[in-house]
Amino acid sequence: MAGARVLLVEDDPAIARSIIFALERGGLTVTHSLLLGDARRQLDLRPPDMLILDIGLPDGNGLDLCREVRAAGGLPVLILSAHGEEIDRVLGLELGADDYVSKPFSPRELLARVRGMLRRAQMQAPVQRRSSDTGPFDIDIAGQRISLHGRVLALTRREFGLLSDLLQHRNRIRSREELLHAVWGSGSDRMDRTVDTHIKTLRAKLQEVAPGHDYIATHRGMGYSI
Ligand code: CA
Repeated sequence: MAGARVLLVEDDPAIARSIIFALERGGLTVTHSLLLGDARRQLDLRPPDMLILDIGLPDGNGLDLCREVRAAGGLPVLILSAHGEEIDRVLGLELGADDYVSKPFSPRELLARVRGMLRRAQMQAPVQRRSSDTGPFDIDIAGQRISLHGRVLALTRREFGLLSDLLQHRNRIRSREELLHAVWGSGSDRMDRTVDTHIKTLRAKLQEVAPGHDYIATHRGMGYSI
């Protein structure tokens, strides 16, 4: 768990400083984003081991990102809220947050929660890996990693979401709408073309590892399957 990477999304500099201080003293590595836009970039660049998410952010609502992260896989999410309102807690947990802390909180309490969540995620990972037949693919939901023939694929967050969704519905055709909903969320204004574009880059990455194989089947007018 030492060295686990945490992405903190918090726009209040004083709160962010105290969280970073506590987590780094606890041996964790923290990346800090002030904005949702930057957090999305960080998640694409280098998926962390967990996410700590403020709700009220200058460029939107943290709960939206929570929903997206959930759709893409099993990254643990801890929600922070300034309001302490019951509705935020309920909404956060409904959207799949694993834990919830109301401000003000003690940094030590936060560190204990974070450690507990990382431990649970580690314990769950091997169980999830064994739970379904994914052929030459190996899914590590908690770590947001998929390997093919034992080689870890360098996937973006969306590619990971698409591939894990297809693998979870193995041998079934997933329509573009279903994939959009699962990976980009229900409120997404993305087009079907977005799915096609990401499938294309995903295919290229799979073929790098397994030349001559095409694991993703295109069903004209219907969607995709593995
Ligand atoms: Ca805030």
